[in-house]
Amino acid sequence: MDCIFCKIIEGTLPSKKVYETEQVVAFHDIQPKAPVHIVIIPKKHIPTMNDLQKEDYALLGDIHEAAQHIAKDLGVEQSGYRLVNNCNKDSGQIVFHIHYHLLGGEPLGDIVG
Ligand code: IMP
Repeated sequence: MDCIFCKIIEGTLPSKKVYETEQVVAFHDIQPKAPVHIVIIPKKHIPTMNDLQKEDYALLGDIHEAAQHIAKDLGVEQSGYRLVNNCNKDSGQIVFHIHYHLLGGEPLGDIVG
């Protein structure tokens, strides 16, 4: 499958991993949009949020658990951070393996707040 995030999971594409479990992996975004910018993905290939099935919902809990750990490890737990999923064209999704951006390390602006 020609998916860059699957290649990161397999280890055939390098990444700077910050967290990994049986279900989830997280790594530094290659083009960070904030001082802290981590991409959190399930190891299961799911293209977009629209493709999530009920049996995948536990993965969303795993992703939030990952976010809690990463925010603490990278020192943004108290200052604050944002978890963002882009779904399809208008959101700006460019990688079609579902993922969540963890952004922080500076005030993030008010597009959704
Ligand atoms: P999207 O716009 O929500 O699909 O975000 C995809 C993200 O993946 C972008 O922020 C990219 O910078 C990031 N990205 C693409 N390729 C790589 C990579 O090889 N390593 C780490 N991040 C990547």
